[in-house]
Amino acid sequence: MLKIYNTLTRRKEEFVPIDGEGVRMYSCGPTVYSYAHIGNFRTYVFTDLLRRVLKYDGFKINGIMNITDVGHLLSDGDTGEDKMQKSAREQNKSPYEIAEFYTKAFLTDIEKLNIDMPERLVKATDHIADMIEYVKELEKKGYAYEISDGIYFDIAKFSGYGKLSGVNLDEQIAGSRVEVNSEKHGPYDFALWKKAEKEHIMQWDSPWGMGYPGWHIECSAMSIKYLGRHFDIHTGGVDHVPIHHENEIAQNEAMTGEKSVNYWIHSEFLLVDNGKMSKSLKNNYTVSDLEQRGYTALDYRFFCLNAHYRKKLNFTFEGMDGAKTALVRLKKAVAEHKNGTEKIDSEVLTEYKREFEKAINDDLNIPLALGVLFKLIKEKKSAEIYRVILDTDRIFGLKLDEEIQEDAATEAPPVPTEITALAEERKAAKAAKDYAKADEVRKRIEEKGYRVADTKEGYSILKVEN
Ligand code: AMP
Ligand code: ZN
Repeated sequence: MLKIYNTLTRRKEEFVPIDGEGVRMYSCGPTVYSYAHIGNFRTYVFTDLLRRVLKYDGFKINGIMNITDVGHLLSDGDTGEDKMQKSAREQNKSPYEIAEFYTKAFLTDIEKLNIDMPERLVKATDHIADMIEYVKELEKKGYAYEISDGIYFDIAKFSGYGKLSGVNLDEQIAGSRVEVNSEKHGPYDFALWKKAEKEHIMQWDSPWGMGYPGWHIECSAMSIKYLGRHFDIHTGGVDHVPIHHENEIAQNEAMTGEKSVNYWIHSEFLLVDNGKMSKSLKNNYTVSDLEQRGYTALDYRFFCLNAHYRKKLNFTFEGMDGAKTALVRLKKAVAEHKNGTEKIDSEVLTEYKREFEKAINDDLNIPLALGVLFKLIKEKKSAEIYRVILDTDRIFGLKLDEEIQEDAATEAPPVPTEITALAEERKAAKAAKDYAKADEVRKRIEEKGYRVADTKEGYSILKVEN
């Protein structure tokens, strides 16, 4: 029996689907204005693990993931330009071309990461009519109001607001100094529909004139359309808890008058060098960035499996080196078991299976399940063990029975002393708080085809593959 942590109730609960063996599940997908980064993929690896555990337990999943190709503004609130529009302007393409390009790139990376995709991918721009109907309904029921730049949800009318994140808006309003949009009834009221300025490329006709949907209404309209008014699971990253998912609950429950989702499940963030990933720090790595540095997507998948999904995970290249080496060792050991002839007591095998299943069903404790795998490979070389290992790989998805690629198995060549000397120079500059010099030395290292990354012990140096 699967136990899973529900953000809504703040405790681990037994998972019981609404319709017996069928699980209806919605996962917030990417906004396709740019390449998804490895942080985003940590969240999709988590969704994949949840799907794999549900399937292992015998459930049949009806899973939906959205592709946001309009309406996600630069802030998760209602301010800033539409991310799609901005990217289109910068790249001198249409938002549709941008969406198509980055959706393809997303799916390529998903495949490389061996992520089991939801049964259906749904695009926001294919569902504008559903969203308009939804907003009309909210307006009819008295939860929506119109102001000069759009239609907004009136949070004060919905008494359950804040139940997911525990936010107390009254306290938040009292303690904040944010400038309030004077026309909005309340500062946290959010846009259901935005009226489009003339230069906004993506716009549709609606009862409120030309415009485009708010980001939150997209997920509400598409989840209800495909999964019904009341479904089992909704997933996303933790950043979605206080705004996006809180707003989805408000919209859904205002619209239907009933609870919409039984289990809200969120995964924690990936940090890089213990900080936030950002474009300006150039640390928002993509899967192909990792590949260029000599790692495979599955090395990264393995890296993710080593942390529980509700714990922050700190990405370092040193950690990736560890993951890569461990995965090669693991595969070598699995290959040896494949042809092993030793006999194993069936009770021993059953005990391993029991231990493994207990771990995955205890709030997806994948690190603990990996511990079982490491015990299995140390067993006598046996084809029976091999079969149990393959069974565990239904969850891990590491393709443990695939042959090791030659380049993955070879050790990295030693770093030239010239590069090590520069890295030492940079370390000294940092210790002296001369960050300008440290940056300059880092650039020199990069020009020579290496990358230096800070670690707990000091730094690590990696060759950048071309
Ligand atoms: P977005 O494309 O911005 O809507 O984000 C897609 C998914 O990635 C969402 O579920 C986010 O919660 C998640 N996400 C964004 N940044 C990170 C991160 N650093 N670590 C883990 N998940 C993330
Ligand atoms: Zn969403």
